[in-house]
Amino acid sequence: MRALIVSDIHGNLEALEAVLAAAGPCDQVWNLGDSVGYGASPNEVVQRICRLATAGVRGNHDKVCCGLADPLMFNPAAREAALWTRAQLTPASLRWLREQSVGPLPTASAVLTHGSPLHEDQYLLNTREAWLPLQQAQVPCTFFGHTHVQGGFTLQNGRASAIQPLHTRRTHHGSRWTLHIQARHRYLLNPGSVGQPRDGDPRAAYAILDDTAGTVTFYREPYDVDLAGGRILLAGLPERLAKRLHTGR
Ligand code: ZN
Repeated sequence: MRALIVSDIHGNLEALEAVLAAAGPCDQVWNLGDSVGYGASPNEVVQRICRLATAGVRGNHDKVCCGLADPLMFNPAAREAALWTRAQLTPASLRWLREQSVGPLPTASAVLTHGSPLHEDQYLLNTREAWLPLQQAQVPCTFFGHTHVQGGFTLQNGRASAIQPLHTRRTHHGSRWTLHIQARHRYLLNPGSVGQPRDGDPRAAYAILDDTAGTVTFYREPYDVDLAGGRILLAGLPERLAKRLHTGR
């Protein structure tokens, strides 16, 4: 079974289409949330992902954009984008976002969550924060998003360590890095952000779990950043949201 894992698409249709084309056919599609917010194509992204995703959880931006939460904790640019998105969303998009599962969500071969499996809004940024959820994990692999940083953490014999995919940083090409799942290890793995990477690599990020081969492959795929950024400016959204797509920060 091959599962395509996407997270933090953030209304970036150009990045999502590039990922779907590059990934090719998969048996399952898992969406780790924040499908909307920041980007200029929220309805188009929802219409695409709602048909494809076989399992998914909601993100903090999804909650705010569909009116389930207030943007009080958001910075000004995120708040402005969330309120803009809320005004753009069609009734069908709003309904789909409101019905998204609260993580953690078990599938047959992994657990899915937006932030930490201990709380959907909690960031997992380092081994200290990852240790407890790894220690409590009931399954080998948990997939998370929220940080927009591809990679994750592993626990062996009570010790947590970070996993950083090694990519060639040729920004006009795609690249991949494969992790072999080891027996008796626990993993918290982040496919990275499709629509707004923050790990210094502007290429769209995603991952594919192959549970027959026992591998998780992390991918980066170039997409038309100028077009996605141009749409953000055209929509009148904060300029910073367009600029950061070019730097991957
Ligand atoms: Zn996000």
